[in-house]
Amino acid sequence: MTEVTDTGQLPSDRRAKAGAGPAAGPGASAGAAAGGQRGPARPALPGHESAVAELQRAYSAIPAGRPVRLAKRTSNLFRFRDSAAAPGLDVSAFSRVLRVDPRSRTAVVGGMTTYEDLADATLRHGLMPLVVPQLKTITLGGAVSGLGIESTSLRSGMPHESVLDMEILTGDGRVVTAAPGNEHDALYRGFPNSYGTLGYALSLTIELEPVQPFVHLRHFRFDSPETCMDAIAEIAAEGSYLGHRADFTDGTAFGLDELYLTVGSFSDVAPWRSDYTRERIYYQSIRGPHEDFLTIRDYLWRWDTDWFWCSRPFGVQRPVIRRLWPRRYRRSDVYRKLVALDRRHGLSAALNARRGVARHEDVIQDVEIPVERGAEFLRSFAANVGMSPVWMCPLRLRSRQAWPLYPLEPDRAYVNFGFWGTVPLPPGAADGYHNRFVEDLVTGLGGHKGLYSTSYYPEDEFWQLYNGQPYAALKAEYDPAGRLAGLYEKCVRGR
Ligand SMILES: Cc1cc2nc3c(=O)[nH]c(=O)nc-3n(C[C@H](O)[C@H](O)[C@H](O)COP(=O)(O)OP(=O)(O)OC[C@H]3O[C@@H](n4cnc5c(N)ncnc54)[C@H](O)[C@@H]3O)c2cc1C
Repeated sequence: MTEVTDTGQLPSDRRAKAGAGPAAGPGASAGAAAGGQRGPARPALPGHESAVAELQRAYSAIPAGRPVRLAKRTSNLFRFRDSAAAPGLDVSAFSRVLRVDPRSRTAVVGGMTTYEDLADATLRHGLMPLVVPQLKTITLGGAVSGLGIESTSLRSGMPHESVLDMEILTGDGRVVTAAPGNEHDALYRGFPNSYGTLGYALSLTIELEPVQPFVHLRHFRFDSPETCMDAIAEIAAEGSYLGHRADFTDGTAFGLDELYLTVGSFSDVAPWRSDYTRERIYYQSIRGPHEDFLTIRDYLWRWDTDWFWCSRPFGVQRPVIRRLWPRRYRRSDVYRKLVALDRRHGLSAALNARRGVARHEDVIQDVEIPVERGAEFLRSFAANVGMSPVWMCPLRLRSRQAWPLYPLEPDRAYVNFGFWGTVPLPPGAADGYHNRFVEDLVTGLGGHKGLYSTSYYPEDEFWQLYNGQPYAALKAEYDPAGRLAGLYEKCVRGR
């Protein structure tokens, strides 16, 4: 896979590789670890190479020592900070799908392309990425560097496991192509969970899979966490539940005695189609009739319309307000912008203080727990934090190789528990009280916590959990001058 610039010249980093012969090219072993599929030769991509050169120029123009940030229109991070001081890199040129190749079932995609645009571009060909995170404005680069997950993750792992190669602007200003087996293999493996601290993915070649027009859902109810976790283990082993093929599996815990697993099968037919972008609300439907049909596109975005259940504080779940709230604004990115505005101006904090309401702590986390410890997690979480609903999404690595910065064990089933809200703080307790409890609980159960939100780990514990040694080696290789923040500074100290 050799790439040429718009003018027919090879970019410098790749020129060396091309000179080393075809076997050393980025595509030489692409896919070997990611699932056995080889990426197609990347064609010349009009405009893309010049955008890369322009970004490299802009990056080198930022004075050393100044923090750097991505100037993106959207974000799904839950670490709010005042980034006005940091120069923003304009990455808008990397927010589109560059090519879909239905024959090889692959796509070349700009790193800042949203999954909404990516899914639309691939569904046109009857294909979809192997894992499509639930929120429309999560980007491919964000999901790969920050670990995405969705209901295909038990079958297909995590988004980075279907990446065949990545073109990365590294912290030291180079543009390299990282792929399994090439000279940047360590960067390819260490990029997931690096959160833009080693470099930025500018384009990625990913695998796609064929879809059918509909998803046939069945919601199975359980009256204890133990029976629910047993059912997940069964689906992991069998690929189906009570005869229903598990192309998609996720779940919702409303309480310790009311948990649902939603198992979806691709279908060519649908006796009816539900639509949760209008009056009805997806998460509430789970408790209702235990069978449902959605188009594949509506299925992919079933959680986005109400940001799972997090649209509730805006009133959008009340029938009158829902009717008045324009449909095009019933989207997760709209709600997140409202939350960001609130944080910036401290509106609800001031209101709560005036009303004498107890201080609340944000508890916004996704954690991965081995399935056999999942019931313990749910019981302890309910007793000590007490938030509901909780989203449950089983996953298993697709490849046998581990990913060093987020060390899940191959061949082991985990459950991602997601909970997003606020919890009252006991008198005298400070922020971190509940979050630190969750961090300890997760570690004690052999799990891991995603880093898109606030974290409170002491530094030595953090590096033990997230493999500090390989990270330090990558940082020394790709960002020796530390132009990009380090992982701990960014994810825990909130820089
Ligand atoms: C309520 C809530 C629910 C969530 N649910 C899910 C879920 O169900 N499934 C799921 O997969 N995720 C979920 N997430 C997490 C989300 O996937 C991560 O926050 C993800 O990193 C966001 O990606 P983004 O594209 O919006 O990137 P941003 O929010 O813009 O950035 C996230 C981080 O990635 C870095 N980054 C962004 N683009 C690139 C790039 N091209 N190259 C390198 N680094 C980059 C940024 O520097 C930043 O550190 C949820 C988050 C929240 C708040």
